[in-house]
Amino acid sequence: MLEIRPNCENCNTLLPNDSDNAMICSFECTFCNECVSTILQNVCPNCGGGFQKRPTRPVNCLTGNCVEKYPIGKRKVFKPVESNKFKVILKTFMNIEPRKR
Ligand SMILES: [Zn+2]
Ligand SMILES: [Zn+2]
Repeated sequence: MLEIRPNCENCNTLLPNDSDNAMICSFECTFCNECVSTILQNVCPNCGGGFQKRPTRPVNCLTGNCVEKYPIGKRKVFKPVESNKFKVILKTFMNIEPRKR
């Protein structure tokens, strides 16, 4: 189950549950769309994987699987990209399509 983390790991922009701007990798490293498309170039600095748009957890509790029972994450991860370290990761992964990494 996703934590639905509250912010972009790189620029700290808030990414609430209903944000259309939140992107995640398979480990749920969470970044805003701007950071993913500009700085990260669709390469996760923590794992090298690609990103997809994060889904929104329903607020409607008809099914019981909703934000009331499974609250939105409050744990902030703020770990701006270190450009020297990231250079190597970017170079390794950027020219391989995400499904083949
Ligand atoms: Zn960002
Ligand atoms: Zn990752």
